[in-house]
Amino acid sequence: MTQLPSRSVIVVGGGITGLTIAVALQGGGHKVTLIARDAPKDTASGVAAGMIAPAMEAMNDSDPAFSFQRLKAAQMAWQDLLPLWPQSLQFLWDEVLEGHSYFVWPGGAGEAPESLRLTGAELAPVSDDLRHRLGIQPELSAVRVSGDGNVSAMTLLQAFEDHFRVLDGVMVRGEVERTEGGRVHVAHIGWMAADEVVIAAGCDSHKLDVFPLSPIKGHLLDLPANRPSVVLRGATGYLATRTDGARFGATMQAGRADLDIEPAVVADLKGRAKTLFPDLELDKAVPRTGIRASTPDGWPLIGRDPASGVLVATGMRRNGYVFAPMAAKIILALVEGRESPDGGIYRPDRFRNPEN
Ligand SMILES: Cc1cc2nc3c(=O)[nH]c(=O)nc-3n(C[C@H](O)[C@H](O)[C@H](O)COP(=O)(O)OP(=O)(O)OC[C@H]3O[C@@H](n4cnc5c(N)ncnc54)[C@H](O)[C@@H]3O)c2cc1C
Repeated sequence: MTQLPSRSVIVVGGGITGLTIAVALQGGGHKVTLIARDAPKDTASGVAAGMIAPAMEAMNDSDPAFSFQRLKAAQMAWQDLLPLWPQSLQFLWDEVLEGHSYFVWPGGAGEAPESLRLTGAELAPVSDDLRHRLGIQPELSAVRVSGDGNVSAMTLLQAFEDHFRVLDGVMVRGEVERTEGGRVHVAHIGWMAADEVVIAAGCDSHKLDVFPLSPIKGHLLDLPANRPSVVLRGATGYLATRTDGARFGATMQAGRADLDIEPAVVADLKGRAKTLFPDLELDKAVPRTGIRASTPDGWPLIGRDPASGVLVATGMRRNGYVFAPMAAKIILALVEGRESPDGGIYRPDRFRNPEN
């Protein structure tokens, strides 16, 4: 698969983006050092609901059909990368393919919301029996959204991290303070060098001179799972369940980069959860917060920054689990001197040099 000799690569960031890139690079025969400040559970990736939901994400955008197309292409990169992953990780794609995702809305029978229909995703009716098994209240209408799915975020992060170590990946827990050409300065450690440096440090990538990024804080509730693995989503919130737990979320607090748990926000979230799913054990809810990285056009920054020469993969906003394999494909291609498979649409300098 590798067209060039094996290259050494430093990946800064151990969330879903950095880990997926690191594993893909290893699969391509490259030597990877991953530097991460935080344990996976303490990253936005560890807090995320793990939905890989092109349709239900696109329906919130101004052009749902366009967004759906892009998100769907990113989702398919999961499948493209499977040959680089060991058999033990193939279950990840199976989890996505299970795809039990439903949109719910108040009112009796009727068409699904226009914004969802505009995505072009395949929608299917839900039988009364299934509604009952999924705990969808009689007052809510529901439609199955084909192709949207979810994974257990922590299971996936752990699987990638374990696999990375098994393949002799070097994992460094530390904070990168700056980058300079093919090297990075790590606090209390010093300079480390490689053929390539990839910055996949989420919203904090801006501290390493990756622009333009802005934070969007999100609260969600960790809950005991009381349903089969499923995503139930309405206009005011979603419930994403896997066998290891459920998550109800989430808030979108633009401009906020702190991780404080805000009691008023939690109370509002619980109120929304109770309205949609009265059977949830909200007294057992544990609030969590994470910070998403957003860009002015809402799409990620993935590619080589011509100014610094570093490779960049961040700005995943609400869709890190959708975009991580696409980011990995792009970074792998660039490390190997190939054309970027996205045709450059996510190039990180597009706001500085819009004409190029
Ligand atoms: C409440 C909530 C729910 C969400 N639900 C979903 C969902 O269902 N589906 C979905 O696709 N997305 C979801 N998201 C978005 C998703 O979490 C992000 O898009 C994704 O986690 C971004 O991953 P990342 O690896 O780019 O960044 P992060 O997860 O933020 O990881 C950044 C990494 O960089 C490291 N780092 C940062 N700075 C440095 C430094 N200077 N030196 C060394 N290491 C550094 C951190 O320690 C961490 O390891 C959700 C987000 C939130 C907040």
